[in-house]
Amino acid sequence: MTIQTKFAITRSEIAGVPVAELAEQYGTPTFVYDAEIIRQRIEQLRSFDVIRYAQKANSNLSVLKLMREQGVVVDAVSAGEILRAEAAGYQATGEPHSIVYTADIFDRVSLDMVCEKHIHCNVGSPDMIDQIGQRMPGSEITLRINPGFGHGHSQKTNTGGPQSKHGIWHDQLEDCLQRADHFGVQVTGLHMHIGSGTDFEHLSQVCDAMKAAVQTVGRTVKVISAGGGLPTPYKAQDSHLDIPRYFELWDATRRELQEEFGHAFQLEIEPGRFLTAESGYLISEIRAIKQMGENLFYLVDAGFNNLARPIMYGAYHPMSICHREGAASERTQNVIVGGPLCESGDIFTQQEGGFVEARELPVAGIGDYLIIECAGAYGFVMASNYNSKPFAAEVLVDSGQSKLVRRRQELADIFADEQV
Ligand SMILES: *Cc1c(COP(=O)(O)O)cnc(C)c1O
Repeated sequence: MTIQTKFAITRSEIAGVPVAELAEQYGTPTFVYDAEIIRQRIEQLRSFDVIRYAQKANSNLSVLKLMREQGVVVDAVSAGEILRAEAAGYQATGEPHSIVYTADIFDRVSLDMVCEKHIHCNVGSPDMIDQIGQRMPGSEITLRINPGFGHGHSQKTNTGGPQSKHGIWHDQLEDCLQRADHFGVQVTGLHMHIGSGTDFEHLSQVCDAMKAAVQTVGRTVKVISAGGGLPTPYKAQDSHLDIPRYFELWDATRRELQEEFGHAFQLEIEPGRFLTAESGYLISEIRAIKQMGENLFYLVDAGFNNLARPIMYGAYHPMSICHREGAASERTQNVIVGGPLCESGDIFTQQEGGFVEARELPVAGIGDYLIIECAGAYGFVMASNYNSKPFAAEVLVDSGQSKLVRRRQELADIFADEQV
């Protein structure tokens, strides 16, 4: 068996299972997740007191169960995600809070649910303090602070600064504390999630902003959360984040606060992408190859209904080819990779702004497999039924064994909720 180099453009297996076997057994398009990669990423973050998985990145129940078995707690951004976490075996409450609801609004269903189940809330808007205070006076909450600046790999993933809708604006903290006092609500945690992508200069600014926020709120704060946004490599030239250095900055902030306040602070990290992105592969089949002027297109049976990151953010995903039969071709060519949807933006090789870009991939034929890699975060969870395409199947591979963890949606299920 050949050892796969990272981001090689040919691939014969995923986590020890032949791609062709996976495709034949489960059909295409199918998402395949490698459990071992998720476990490795968790291990890299063990220095933090609490690893809280932002399940919106990949909320398949089997992924959540794997997280739970590793002692990872979860973040939920909706009532549906709270129920998912419970279905994966998480308790509503616990210490540290096994499920935290983080959002900028309570829709009516989620407000009812967090009150009923006593879910700890990380509130991102001042109005939420009144809403929870009225229903649950005396409860404990976390405040999500927008420090006034942000960072993201795209405008759409920047979650700080004045153009972001997320969090409580840093200079409104006093007002929030008054609102909380009015209902006897205690602020026991502070949280900053300022976007995907991290540089260290920027991070030290965030740490300073966190310290200032804790000083404003005072003694009741016991937990500080660094949020998510840990970058993950999508391109050959991308490197992995220096986790020890990242931890060191936050830990130093925590130690300063402990000294100042004379009590322990719990340091949480809340990654989504970092834990699952690299574990995921979307296997598709090449169904048409055509020349359009000077461009050669590989058209596959997966589209942005399955993986929306390229059309949404111009996100780059590594890709590889697995030949159905025979050895991998040594020859390569520049191709544009597109999907089946009736929408010209249904292109996996595009830059932000929709500019189509060619990719050097092996010469391939109809029936060969094209694997879109690093698709384990914000992949399946952003899927739609656009063009009445069914949701793909999802498969988890662990210790060389593959297991179907979500069956492919039946065509009739796509319109099962509709009425005439
Ligand atoms: C999306 C989100 C995360 C995870 O972001 P990643 O970039 O996937 O790590 C963490 N916390 C909150 C509140 C989020 O909204």
